[in-house]
Amino acid sequence: MMGFTEDQIHRYARHLVLREIGGVGQRKLLDARVLIVGAGGLGCPAALYLAAAGAGRISIADHDAVAVENLQRQILYGSADVGRPKAETAAAALRRNNPDVIVEPLAVRVTAAGARALVKGRSLVVEGTDDPETKFAVNDACVAEGVPFVIGGVVRWSGQLMAVLPGKTACYRCVFENPPVTPAETCEAAGVLGPAAGAVGTLMAVEACKILLGKGEPLAGRMRVIDFLAGTSRDIAWKRRPGCPACGAAK
Ligand SMILES: [Zn+2]
Repeated sequence: MMGFTEDQIHRYARHLVLREIGGVGQRKLLDARVLIVGAGGLGCPAALYLAAAGAGRISIADHDAVAVENLQRQILYGSADVGRPKAETAAAALRRNNPDVIVEPLAVRVTAAGARALVKGRSLVVEGTDDPETKFAVNDACVAEGVPFVIGGVVRWSGQLMAVLPGKTACYRCVFENPPVTPAETCEAAGVLGPAAGAVGTLMAVEACKILLGKGEPLAGRMRVIDFLAGTSRDIAWKRRPGCPACGAAK
């Protein structure tokens, strides 16, 4: 069946019977080249679900080491991993889940200088760091290279996520022009519910699958804002800004 191995036919059986995936869609997932920026509270669940789904090539970029404070929500790591590099440890966990997937750990901080080379040629990027500078660097690089991406954040009991289809829908800079002058509220200072990070990261993986498959209505041109404590969510619509320094007409 479409060049799938016996293991793949069983492993992806629930995808293969799904009308919107089937053999054609699973092949698209297996052929995908995904970059995950940040192997933290959002990147861990997003990466795990994408690996399990058979996203064929996953690069995972994180320059940090696992800290004991991470274990409350960064579910690719266990107590024995404290002190180990996140990218490599995450890669090992993904390979354990699905040996079908080629995983590349990248122990780098994604900066404006290096982002473009990292995103070039990817099918999709998932941005899940808590660093505004990295978020803008990934945005600008993906817009320049025409690579779709999903970007998200979580703090306390609330989360937000949005997909960007470069040239078609509003980018992160259309929404937030520049990194905040005062540092954004961090999970370290404000706290975060572990499963809230899991929920947002998982929603990011759902959006990633939709974009890779070319199915459904991506959460693009709108940002979903979820208040887990109140049990509510809303979508904020964003149009492309003509003066946007990343994707506007002036570019
Ligand atoms: Zn823009």
